[in-house]
Order: sequence, then C-alpha cells, then structure tokens
Amino acid sequence: MAQIVRTSTLSDVTPPELSVVVPLYNEVESLIQLLEAITTSVSNMGLSYEIICVDDGSKDGSSELLKQQALLRPHLRAVLLRRNYGQTPAMAAGFKYATAPFIVTLDGDLQNDPADIPMLLAKLEEGYDLVSGWRKNRQDAALTRLLPSKIANWLIGRITGVKLHDYGCSLKAYRAELIADMNLYGELHRFLPALAFIEGARITEVPVRHHARRHGSSKYGLGRTFRVVLDLFTVFFMKKFLTRPMHVFGLLGISSTVLGTVLGLYLTFLKLGLGQSIGDRPLLILVVILLLAGVQLFSFGLLGELLMRTYHESQGRPIYRVREVVEREANNGNGN
Ligand code: UDP
Ligand code: MG
Repeated sequence: MAQIVRTSTLSDVTPPELSVVVPLYNEVESLIQLLEAITTSVSNMGLSYEIICVDDGSKDGSSELLKQQALLRPHLRAVLLRRNYGQTPAMAAGFKYATAPFIVTLDGDLQNDPADIPMLLAKLEEGYDLVSGWRKNRQDAALTRLLPSKIANWLIGRITGVKLHDYGCSLKAYRAELIADMNLYGELHRFLPALAFIEGARITEVPVRHHARRHGSSKYGLGRTFRVVLDLFTVFFMKKFLTRPMHVFGLLGISSTVLGTVLGLYLTFLKLGLGQSIGDRPLLILVVILLLAGVQLFSFGLLGELLMRTYHESQGRPIYRVREVVEREANNGNGN
C-alpha cells in the first residue's frame, strides 16, 4: 500500500474545486518558485484547490524537498513514485490522487506559467471538457525541438482529426470525469486530446505563455520524435478501429486473398492452358505471399475482435459515453 502523507485541509471530506497536477523529475531548483506561482495564481481566483505534485523518482533532492513542503503547505499533496517511470505514468498517478471536478496539468520546470490557469478554467466553464494550452511563443531550441514538434503537430492533427496547434503543451485543463474515462500508457499523455476526442469530448485551445528553461535540463531529445510517430499509429488505430478490428484486418485479408487467387488462377491458366513454365516467375512468389498474408491478416482480425471484447468487458468499459441524461422529474417514479 502506498503511504499517503496528509495535511489537515486535504483530509477534509469535501473535495476542492480544482486540482493542479504537476509531474516532477529532477526539478529541485524550480520547485519552491513553482509552488508559490501556482498558489498565487489559483488563490486569486477564490477557488478551493489542491496541488498534486508527483515526484517521478527524482535523484536531485526534489523528493525530499517536496515531502518537506507537503508538510508545511496545507494545499499540497506529494505523491512520490518508487522510481522514474516517465512523464505519462507520473501524470496518471497525479490524476489518480486528484479529487476535484476540474483538473489542470502543467510542467514542473516553470516553462508553463501558472498565471494562465484562470484563462483555461474560464474555457472549461464555457462548457468545454478539455482546454489545451498553445505555446504560441515557444522558448525551446528551434532545430531540435520546434521543427520536429511542428511536423508532429501537423501529422497528429491530420491523422487524429483533432485540430490543435500544440499537442505537446503540458498546460491543459480537463473535466475530471473525462480523465476517469481514459487510461494512459507509454508516452500517450500528449495524445490526451486525441484520446479525449475518441471519448466524445469538446476540445478547444488557448494561447499560453512559455518561458525558456531556467533550471535543470530537458528530459527529452530528438528520439522522442520517433516515439511520437509510433504512438500516432496506436492512437489512429484506437480512434478508427478499436471496436471493430476485423474491419481493418479483414478488409486487408480479403484484398490480399482475392488478388492472390486471381493471379494464381492466371498462372494456372498459363501452365495448364498454354503449357508455359511458371516455376521461375516472380509472380508465383507474389501469389504465395498474398495468399499466406491473406490468411494471416484474417486471423489477426479475429484475434483483434477477441482482444477488443476482453478490453471492454474486463474493465467494464462501455463502447459509448453518455454526456448527460435529461428527463422530467415526474419520470423518476414519484407520481404525477
Ligand atoms: N518529467 C517526469 N518524468 C520524466 C521526465 C519528465 O515527470 O521521466 C517531468 C519534468 O520534470 C517536467 C515535465 O515532465 O515537469 C516535462 O519534462 P521536460 O521539461 O523535460 O520536457 P520539455 O519541456 O523539454 O518537453
Ligand atoms: Mg520543459
């Protein structure tokens, strides 16, 4: 069992109105300033709030400082992971311990500006389920960060159908019930808007401030670009075919089998009808590959269907999401 260090305010029964979730990995020099900035920004709004800092196995003393701060600050909850898992699991842990109906996430390195939180919340209150920050004036290296990110954003937009300028911005606001419907794996946190879109969320973006990193160093390099592209395939599949994998694999399987059969019949005609030798024809190899691939793809589709049913049924995940149910009070069974 994970040990939770509680301060008095957080053990109150009524949940706060806002949870601010921050993943931290080796951000010791930014931490105090970050907590101050969040506190200033959020307390100005007059909301009740909690700050959930998730220490992702830091080795620079962030964990110790965070623990110490959690005992001093009534609104702070420190969640310390056993080792470094990565930003997505750290965020997932933060979501798990968040109790408010509205959740805001931001980075722990002060690149996002907590002063933008009220603006994001205002959008949620307009009725959106997810509000994403757009780092219009992004302060990162041009060649290694901005360029790959521009390409990635364009690709993600095209493939997922969610049009945002900046998927990578951690400063986002969510309705908690949306988060509850989503499971995060790998490095999928940047695809939260796309995953939310799959769940039928109303999504928008607002330009936010962005500052250059002053302390510590970025935890990512160019390698992330490739992982983002791979994740994109996963998300695309989830969006399009999660509940009907047979429609992809089955279609490919049928196409492959039909083409293989037609070409195979043609070769049979050449051999039996015209007496030509077909043993050394590349086409013969193609026919064999197409027929084998057809069977494989078809079986894949069937396996996919079984897995999909397990995915939904084992977790009690419905294949639809209800936004709201409206009915007259009289229908509730108390007469009239
Ligand atoms: N982070 C984390 N675990 C990791 C890597 C990063 O919790 O394994 C946190 C990090 O402390 C920061 C946020 O995720 O708060 C974003 O990381 P970073 O600033 O390095 O990314 P960049 O802004 O360079 O994209
Ligand atoms: Mg950063």
